[in-house]
Amino acid sequence: MLTTYARPLLRLLEALEKLPGVGPRSAERMAFYLLRASREEARQLAQAITDVKDRLRLCEACFNLSETARCPICQDAARDPSVLCVVEEPKDVLAIEKTGAYRGLYHVLLGAIAPLDGIGPELLKIDELMARLSDGAIHEVIIATDADRDGETTAAYLSKLIRPTGLTLTRIASGIPVGSHLEYADQATLVRALEGRRGL
Ligand SMILES: [Zn+2]
Repeated sequence: MLTTYARPLLRLLEALEKLPGVGPRSAERMAFYLLRASREEARQLAQAITDVKDRLRLCEACFNLSETARCPICQDAARDPSVLCVVEEPKDVLAIEKTGAYRGLYHVLLGAIAPLDGIGPELLKIDELMARLSDGAIHEVIIATDADRDGETTAAYLSKLIRPTGLTLTRIASGIPVGSHLEYADQATLVRALEGRRGL
């Protein structure tokens, strides 16, 4: 059926279908929506996609997404530089920031240890984390990796690594359902999980 479409439409459908969670039917709905939309609306969408590729980079300190060398959170003098929350992905920073309940800094690992997928600790920002911890400014590390298998593996690995430093080490877990991703937890649950963090 797709072969009956004109070539430019086919290319759009192919591109949309590559997006996570988008099957052929929703790709078609989006494509036909865009066909009906104004040229300006389509241009804005295309520009937004190009901008995230061209203008976003990783913060040199915490590896959160940033438009500048240091992200706004790392640059914010009102935040508590003695507490560091370790998360897997930039979207986890966003989820915790939305709660408004955390005022410390972050460290984004850019993934989790996943031996079955061939992702070892050397592929994550763990050396960079240990370098940050050695400068003496950080007193507490909160491990906020996901509550699934890879997140727990990563938390266990990090706690082994960090415990000898003598820093206060905690893990958020209570309230986040086992096996689930941080980003999907509702805000009240995340706040409870942060407040109820326990020593590792
Ligand atoms: Zn940063």
